[in-house]
Amino acid sequence: MYDFVIIGGGIVGLSTAMALGQRYPDAQILLLEKENHFAPHQTGNNSGVIHSGIYYKPGSLRAKLCREGCQSMVEFCQKHNIDYDVCGKVIVATEPEELPLLENLYQRGLENGLEIHKITAEQVKEVEPYVQCLAGIKVNSTGIVNYTQVALKYAELIAQQGGKLQLSTKVENIKNTSEGTVIETNQGEFKAKFLINCAGLYSDRITRLGGVKPEAKIIPFRGEYYELIPQKRHLVKTLIYPVPNPNFPFLGVHFTRMIDGSVHAGPNAVLSLKREGYKKTDFDLADTLDTLTYPGFWKLATKHAKDGIEEIIRSFSKAAFVHSLQRLIPEVQSEDLIPTHAGVRAQALRNDGKLVDDFLIVEGRKAMHVCNAPSPAATASLEIGKAIVEKVANVQEPATKL
Ligand SMILES: Cc1cc2nc3c(=O)[nH]c(=O)nc-3n(C[C@H](O)[C@H](O)[C@H](O)COP(=O)(O)OP(=O)(O)OC[C@H]3O[C@@H](n4cnc5c(N)ncnc54)[C@H](O)[C@@H]3O)c2cc1C
Repeated sequence: MYDFVIIGGGIVGLSTAMALGQRYPDAQILLLEKENHFAPHQTGNNSGVIHSGIYYKPGSLRAKLCREGCQSMVEFCQKHNIDYDVCGKVIVATEPEELPLLENLYQRGLENGLEIHKITAEQVKEVEPYVQCLAGIKVNSTGIVNYTQVALKYAELIAQQGGKLQLSTKVENIKNTSEGTVIETNQGEFKAKFLINCAGLYSDRITRLGGVKPEAKIIPFRGEYYELIPQKRHLVKTLIYPVPNPNFPFLGVHFTRMIDGSVHAGPNAVLSLKREGYKKTDFDLADTLDTLTYPGFWKLATKHAKDGIEEIIRSFSKAAFVHSLQRLIPEVQSEDLIPTHAGVRAQALRNDGKLVDDFLIVEGRKAMHVCNAPSPAATASLEIGKAIVEKVANVQEPATKL
């Protein structure tokens, strides 16, 4: 019988296992990952940005844990010799109607306690010489890192603490018994006193298997990227973001200098017809029906029909994708960009059509379910892990001493 079993070897599951091991050094901890390596899904296919926390609603978990996580991620990388760069970023308004939105974002950043600066179009050019805009915000604390490297370091530290990590082990069923939780997998059964579900794109299904009706369903949104050819990398020095559409949960296609020196452009946000569907042609009947039979999806789709159609066009038309990027850097041409990887975001959506905006951690019977951990969960991963352990401690410690 394990004290804790964690489902999911992405950055959130690994940070949680690491934080549990630090709080309970004598506990028996097991982490189960269905793939044959760590960080295969969201964690391994993201933009690699250490977000500052400017975008999130003041007072929300996302705002708090991102701001704290931005700092702790940098300290973690320093301590463990992981390459990172606090290169800063610019957010730029390119149309007059975006100026009030940029101002709102600036005020939000201040409310979130960040050190940010309004800059003129000329000052933007000092940082990013090829950007054409009307005005911008400079965010100094934004950085870049490879989150797969971070996740692998978490895994190494868990093993050093005595935790057990088991790959190629897919959780198929969960039974709550009087003696604890029985986790049925393709590699046999495991028993746990306490279960923590960090299954990302499958977190809602695991929540249901654990006997809790999830309050939201995971809707998969694929984000596709292009990469600048090496001869054109000089067009981007750091990170260049547009002003996000305030009604849309994603940040808009942007330029990101990656820690390996390459420059990525994207991601867009298209509905994926498969939860782990990285190609446009990927399709899974059960996943598709799951989305299309969910009333919340149709409410969302009706509300965002125009944005959704634009995203689909941008997915199938490179010209449309390039056009969005030219709003930031007019000099970028189609032949400068080659398609690269894609990632699929797990975004929780409620039955009423509202996207779950904040991180969502739900308590079950001797269990915690991470039901929504979208961006910036990689940035905030160390803080999310600690927050989960705090919640576990509040449930566990009065009754049982682990
Ligand atoms: C395109 C994109 C760009 C992003 N950019 C950024 C960024 O720049 N900065 C940032 O901070 N965040 C970013 N994010 C968000 C960030 O990557 C995620 O919030 C974070 O990785 C979530 O981690 P996770 O561990 O919850 O999920 P995941 O990394 O998806 O891990 C979940 C794991 O659970 C496993 N699993 C699922 N079901 C089972 C099962 N039945 N049995 C066993 N294992 C199972 C999966 O195989 C997977 O490995 C981005 C995300 C995407 C998709």
